[in-house]
Amino acid sequence: MTNTFISSHKRLAQWLSWGLVVGTMIAFARPAQAFGPPESAALGPEREASSVPVPFDRKLSSPYGWRMGRTGKARLFHFAVDFAAGAGTPVFAVRGGIVAHVAKEGRRCKGFCGYGNAVVVYHEKEDVWTLYAHLSKVGVEVGQKIRAGAELGAVGATCNRRFKGMGAHLHFEVRERLEPGDEPFPGKPGAGAVDPQLWLASLGVVYDKKGRLVRAELSISP
Ligand SMILES: [Zn+2]
Repeated sequence: MTNTFISSHKRLAQWLSWGLVVGTMIAFARPAQAFGPPESAALGPEREASSVPVPFDRKLSSPYGWRMGRTGKARLFHFAVDFAAGAGTPVFAVRGGIVAHVAKEGRRCKGFCGYGNAVVVYHEKEDVWTLYAHLSKVGVEVGQKIRAGAELGAVGATCNRRFKGMGAHLHFEVRERLEPGDEPFPGKPGAGAVDPQLWLASLGVVYDKKGRLVRAELSISP
């Protein structure tokens, strides 16, 4: 009896602490809805946070898909989503993983031209790569193991001088493996690319049509 009593108290304490985490996230996500503690939180599985690539109040400003290019003459396929955020805004890893590439602003940009300072993180569990581009600064190194929510660097407007007059924003790509043993970075533009908005949604991170974050959940690994 006593044991049951204690364990139910422990469980309650666990739920309360999860409530605090989720409550904090709710406070930052506006408008927030459909937000609740993960159902299996009390069962003690490995917990893994999924994060957002920029702070909660920043908008997704340009979706994945066709859009008009800078010149206004041709439509180009955008293999990413952009987030509106000023220079210096922190950039976070959306899941845990290993830093696979760090590209540098400058002329020698083979395989990463146009991205400027950029970080690619490989997420082992999902066998997926995420890329964070145009950064003003990078705070991680290749081979570094990072957790979800780790600060990778800061938003900027670096682009190896490819896009004249481009303003600061975060360009965020998600790529899958095309063939076994193959890696999508560095590679052809768009190789293995998936819609980052859909991928984030599968992790419980949902942006509405106006690009506002409406839901951000912690996910539980089985
Ligand atoms: Zn972009």
